[in-house]
Amino acid sequence: MVERRCAGCWNIKDRNELIKITNTGGNVVINPNSKIFGRSAYLCYNKTCIEKALKKNKLDKFLKTSIPSELKGQLLDEL
Ligand SMILES: [Zn+2]
Repeated sequence: MVERRCAGCWNIKDRNELIKITNTGGNVVINPNSKIFGRSAYLCYNKTCIEKALKKNKLDKFLKTSIPSELKGQLLDEL
């Protein structure tokens, strides 16, 4: 079991229970396929965690990039 920490609530969960967001170096991808590598952050599939991570630009800091606003919408679409 691969465990990852949610950037919103900071709880550790199974990788399969989390949304993966990867900075590929110029692009930010949600749930990329296994061929895509880069700095990644994880979030629970719930609105509270997503909003928490986005609110204080936590995700931006985590991924060391600025998250495009359309990606924020896409994240909520994953729910
Ligand atoms: Zn969470």
